[in-house]
Amino acid sequence: MTRKTMHIGLDDTDSTRKGCTTYVAAVLVEKLQKLDAEFTDYPNLIRLNPNVPWKTRGNGALCLRIRYGENVEGQIKETVIKTVEEQADFECKGTDPGIVFFEGAQIPKEIKAFARNAITDIVTLKDAVKLVSKFGGEAVGFKKGRGIIGGLAAVGETLHADYTYEVLAYRVSENRGLKRCVDEASIFEMDEATAPYTFNNVDQEKGRVMITPRGPDPILFGIRGETPEIVKKAFRMVRAFEPVERWVIFRTNQGTDAHLKGVENLGQIKPYSPVIVRGTVTTNPKMIPRRHVIFSIEDKSAQADCAAYEPTGVLRKVASKLIIGDYVEVYGGVRAPSQHRSSTINLEKVQVLRLAPKIAFHNPLCKKCGRRLESMGKGQGFRCRKCGSKHRSLGKVEVKLKRDLKRGLYITSTRSQRHLTKPFRRYGMEKRHVTVEGLIDGWHFP
Ligand code: ATP
Repeated sequence: MTRKTMHIGLDDTDSTRKGCTTYVAAVLVEKLQKLDAEFTDYPNLIRLNPNVPWKTRGNGALCLRIRYGENVEGQIKETVIKTVEEQADFECKGTDPGIVFFEGAQIPKEIKAFARNAITDIVTLKDAVKLVSKFGGEAVGFKKGRGIIGGLAAVGETLHADYTYEVLAYRVSENRGLKRCVDEASIFEMDEATAPYTFNNVDQEKGRVMITPRGPDPILFGIRGETPEIVKKAFRMVRAFEPVERWVIFRTNQGTDAHLKGVENLGQIKPYSPVIVRGTVTTNPKMIPRRHVIFSIEDKSAQADCAAYEPTGVLRKVASKLIIGDYVEVYGGVRAPSQHRSSTINLEKVQVLRLAPKIAFHNPLCKKCGRRLESMGKGQGFRCRKCGSKHRSLGKVEVKLKRDLKRGLYITSTRSQRHLTKPFRRYGMEKRHVTVEGLIDGWHFP
């Protein structure tokens, strides 16, 4: 019997009060394997543009890539549709699930480009539907069907550039919504034992655990890392005091900076897009209410405000130490447009490229006794308190102060990093054009 290849994209099944599309994918892993489907890749968890205003949480979309017997094709599609119908939070306004079925081993370039745009920009449902029909795929949309966008983008992002893994463990339904019971000490131990090959397990600054989400979703915890083996090892080290219903290893673009796109100048930045752009600091940073720090940068083309919010921790401190004339590269999402403001970039990272000299003007020293002089009033010269001498012709002297900031890259604190933000721990670990050959034994349960 002929075996065929299919890519199944899923998105927008959850709401803030219920569900998670990764859970739908995890349930489908079990169900599709019962139909003798063979997974050609780990389920892909693709994070899309984090600045999309209508996302629920982390703007994640899923793709399952399988080989299967032609005779069960109908059953596979039915199973996927039925599972989405069972799991999605249809009552919630703004939950608009979408499924994309795409057959064939090769993903067309145009669909890959669509995925790239969905990660770095805003794309439309109309374009998604056009592409699905152009290449003979099938799209199933519920309600407004906006999830078709994410579904197609997940199909198109085949993760041939940098990628990472995440093992996600899910709670049994009775426990969802209750406090998560996981031994925190075991998480710190796991982090130490698996570093630097796992990342974002804990926030070292605050001594806080990061792997357990807070909301009512079904995730108990998730561990991110460089290989399927290391996330599985880490998973085994975490002691949970409540039952784990199922777990799955996903391959993902998390922690890769895939969303950030370099633009040539500030004139090119667009609302909702995550950018990397250079500019010269033109205003000294100011603290606004709720301890956020704002400064402006400009180049020949335009000017933009940069905002480092309170939870960005390290980054906020760095931002507050910048001065007019510093030359920086900023990384972050461009905020929604506003009539009253110029463009604002919400900072995720700052690379300090050049530090401007910090100059202060001091009173001169006494020529007779060496003590610092005091002013006799504007334009009247200086006098010495110690020896009484007067110096009418002297002016203030320029003094170069030491900067309390070094050149280099600064990243927002772990607790405020986006799913896509590449943390320091991953620098130097990037993978390039590596193809996944075979999955490890036991990459999911059940
Ligand atoms: P979770 O992370 O909990 O799964 P979410 O944050 O992924 O939830 P969704 O409920 O999936 O949020 O909502 C995001 C919606 O935005 C989806 O319908 C998706 O298709 C759509 N979308 C994603 N990226 C883009 C984009 N770049 N342009 C336009 N629409 C997008």
